[in-house]
Amino acid sequence: MSLVKPLRLLLLGAPGSGKGTQTSRLLKKIPQLHSISSGDLLRQEVKHNSGFGSIAFNYISQGKLLPDELMTKLVVTNLKQSGWLAPDASWLLDGFPRTSTQAEALNKDLQTYRAELNLVVELDVPESVILERIENRFVHVPSGRVYNLQYNPPKVAGKDDVTGEPLTKRSDDTAEVFSKRLKQYKSTLAPLKEYYINKGILQMVSGETSDIIFPKLYDLIEREFGAH
Ligand code: AMP
Repeated sequence: MSLVKPLRLLLLGAPGSGKGTQTSRLLKKIPQLHSISSGDLLRQEVKHNSGFGSIAFNYISQGKLLPDELMTKLVVTNLKQSGWLAPDASWLLDGFPRTSTQAEALNKDLQTYRAELNLVVELDVPESVILERIENRFVHVPSGRVYNLQYNPPKVAGKDDVTGEPLTKRSDDTAEVFSKRLKQYKSTLAPLKEYYINKGILQMVSGETSDIIFPKLYDLIEREFGAH
């Protein structure tokens, strides 16, 4: 798909709802699109053993959210450095903003660049499906590519399809930490949604699998932002 106007998209969804998978699929189909995943940024910091990484790890391993101010700075700096705050750039955020405070702070920054979000899509996946998925999830940290042993296994067991590098299990995908993350998500979701409902840009797509959700998400984007 070729975009006829800039798309600045936020994907919302519980942990395990498939935001990473939908992101990879959108990037393949829409060459103009870039993406930032706050979780991937943090995992890269942790992997590189930076000072910030060790702070991040403390929060992540307990299933707790990092402070709003820290997260906003991390993501906005990244957007700026990547040159995506140009008014004609198209990008997608996954995992940030996660609270209404983050949403407001981001909006303030984006306003100064005339590059506010123009679409927010909530991925609505049943909780029973999510829990089952998490047990089978493996990631390639440097790229953020996500694999599922059942639905989307790597071509070679334990290896990333593109680089051949090893896949790892996320340390926060254990039953105990995951239930905290899910609770956390539910408690911050309502005000966040409210914020985007008031802006008139929130939509929802529902389905049990990423294969069901993807065409719905793609059509929605094509209707508003695609060439016809
Ligand atoms: P994710 O990969 O999006 O599930 O994020 C993994 C973990 O990183 C979360 O459980 C949080 O500890 C942290 N994290 C990611 N994004 C944010 C955010 N926007 N605000 C606060 N913490 C975050």
